[in-house]
Amino acid sequence: MNCLFCKIISGEIKSDKVYEDENLIAFKDINPKGPVHILLVPKKHFATLNDIPASEFGLVAKIFQAVQKIAKEQGVAELGYRTLINTNKDAGQEVFHIHWHLIGGKKLGGMG
Ligand code: AMP
Ligand code: ZN
Repeated sequence: MNCLFCKIISGEIKSDKVYEDENLIAFKDINPKGPVHILLVPKKHFATLNDIPASEFGLVAKIFQAVQKIAKEQGVAELGYRTLINTNKDAGQEVFHIHWHLIGGKKLGGMG
C-alpha cells in the first residue's frame, strides 16, 4: 500500500518521533500550525474515521490516553491544546491514514 504514514511507521520515511508504543506512533507535523503540533497515528491502517469499526474503539481509547500523556510532556496540558481529526474532502483531509492532530503552545483561534 502506498501510504505515507505506513511508511513513517515502518521507518522507510523519517519522522521527528516523540512517542511510540505497540499501538501507535506520534511525531511532529512537518508543517506545524502552532509551537506544538503532533500527529498521533495508529499502527493499523484505517483510511478515515469512517473506517474504524466499533471493535477497534479500544484502540481509539488508547490513542486518547496517549494524547493526555503527550500533551503533558509537551507542556500544553494545563494551558490548553486542540485535538482534531479531519475526515474526507470538506475537512481537508490530506493523508488517508487516520491521525489525531494535537495542536497547542499558543492561543488558538476559533473554528471558523
Ligand atoms: P490532514 O490534513 O488531517 O490529513 O493532515 C495531514 C498532516 O500531515 C498535515 O498537517 C501535514 O503537514 C502533515 N504531514 C504531511 N507529510 C508529513 C510528513 N512527512 N511528516 C510529518 N507530517 C506530515
Ligand atoms: Zn497507512
